[in-house]
Order: sequence, then structure tokens, then C-alpha cells
Amino acid sequence: MIYDLHSHSIFSDGTLSPEALVERAHEQGVNVLALTDHDETKGLSAARKKAEELGIKLINGVEISVTWRNNQTIHIVGLNFDPASEALQNGLIEIRTERIRRAKKIAEKLDKCGIPNVWQELTEEVGFEAVTRTHFARYLLDRGHVKEMQKAFTKWLGKNGKAFVNGKWASLEEGVKWIVEAGGQAVIAHPVRYNMTRTKLESLVIDFKACGGRGIEVIANRSTPDEIAQTASIARRHELLASVGSDFHVPGNPYVELGRNLELPTDCKPVWHDWQLKPG
Ligand code: AMP
Ligand code: MN
Ligand code: MN
Ligand code: MN
Repeated sequence: MIYDLHSHSIFSDGTLSPEALVERAHEQGVNVLALTDHDETKGLSAARKKAEELGIKLINGVEISVTWRNNQTIHIVGLNFDPASEALQNGLIEIRTERIRRAKKIAEKLDKCGIPNVWQELTEEVGFEAVTRTHFARYLLDRGHVKEMQKAFTKWLGKNGKAFVNGKWASLEEGVKWIVEAGGQAVIAHPVRYNMTRTKLESLVIDFKACGGRGIEVIANRSTPDEIAQTASIARRHELLASVGSDFHVPGNPYVELGRNLELPTDCKPVWHDWQLKPG
């Protein structure tokens, strides 16, 4: 069985429709897929319909942006929840509003650096549900302001970039609570990506568990064997369930494909250990 529990569609910063994403997952041999758009669940119903058609299992997912300890952004993946939950949907609306506020600020900063009208042009062209820095990065790339995506983050959008704006998201506690109240499981996404010391990551884990969090991505986008071993050891030590996900956004990236290299170390307890899986 191949599980891939982290992926994006056009409802956030992916480039495939939910249907095309599910088709691709099916082609890649994925049996269980979670669509986890940033702060948005609108793609789930179309994805589910396609998954039922193809006989693959679609798990309701979302990737929530939260702020931990005043200013550290952490991504929490929610899995297997009821998308009709009002608490969850109201929370996600709040975060998407903050995304728009932040995006306008990013555009203002770009304007001051001689790149005008980005917000107007993005809203006219893209019509996004959840606006992300990826949309800005693609814009800068398409207009030739940078030569590669990575550079858009180092020069402009990342922590040390000229147009960086820190989002003020929901708290870790709120984000986890919305997922749990909607009947789902909360998972710390791509723990290695935060560049934390092990001690700091473990204090995040302790806070996360105190809020009701259950899992951690032991295998994420481009994890190395060493990173997998380290995260697996944190999962074991803190009795967290292990999740896996490609964090797929776009086709054609040679390093990232749906369902690829996601086999968990045998001593991890998978987040899906008690899921009752029927097709669709
Ligand atoms: P946001 O949630 O709006 O801050 O945007 C975060 C998204 O930007 C992530 O989910 C990634 O898809 C993308 N991203 C962040 N850093 C990089 C990077 N260095 N290169 C490419 N994409 C990135
Ligand atoms: Mn993304
Ligand atoms: Mn993320
Ligand atoms: Mn993601």
C-alpha cells in the first residue's frame, strides 16, 4: 500500500486541479491520498469524486498555517476530519483573510523596490482561493525578475528577502483544536524545514501534544535517510504517530513526485493504523 498524505492543488499553490492530482496519484500507484491545500478545503469534493471513479482512497486533508511562540510559522497537517465542521471552516476563513492582508503588504514592499502592480495583476490573473508566497514567486519568475523559484525566496520572499512579511496566523493551540474538533488528526508538517535545533523541535512537539496533536511527518518532501531516522526517533520518544507525504505541488519537478519513496521505517506507528479504509 502506498500512502501519500500531503499534496496541493490549484485551491492553494499547486498547479493541478484536484481531479488531475488524483489521476496523477493513481498513475503513480498511490492507494491512499490526502489533498492538503494551504488553509483551504474547497478541492476535497472534486478530488473525492475522481477518487471514487478510479478506486483510490481520498483522505480529507488541509495544511494549516499557525504561529508558535509569537512569531514562528509552523504548518500543521490535518487529516481525516469532517470538512463541514464550522469551527474549522471559520478558522480557515480567518487565516485566508490574513493571507490576503500579508499578500498586499508583500506587494507594497515589491512596489517600493521597483516592482509595481503585483497585487492587481495577481488577482486578475490567478483568482486564487488561498494566496501564498508561491504565487508571488511564480509571478517574479514569469516576469523575469528572478531566474529560478528558489531565488524568488532567497532574494524577495524568504525570511531574509526584501519583501518578506511574517504572517500572523492562528495559534498552534487553535489550529490543532480546529482539526481535533472536526474529528481529525493533527500532524506536524515537514519538521526538518523549520531549521530548529533538536531541543527546540522537541519543545514544539511537547506544546503540540499538549494541544491534542497526534502525529509528525517522518517522511516529507525530499527527506534524506538521516532526517528520516532523526524524525523517527523523535516520533518514538514522544509517542507520536508517523505520517508521510510528498508535499507535491507541480508536475515535472524531478525531485518530487506523488507516492515516491514514502516507505516508513518499520519501528514507526503509522498515523493510519486505526483508519477504516473503504474505497473512495
Ligand atoms: P506561505 O504559506 O504563503 O508562506 O507560502 C509557503 C509556500 O511557499 C510553501 O508551502 C512552499 O510551497 C513554498 N516555498 C517556501 N519556501 C520555498 C522555497 N525556498 N522554494 C520553493 N518554494 C518554497
Ligand atoms: Mn505550498
Ligand atoms: Mn508546508
Ligand atoms: Mn505543503
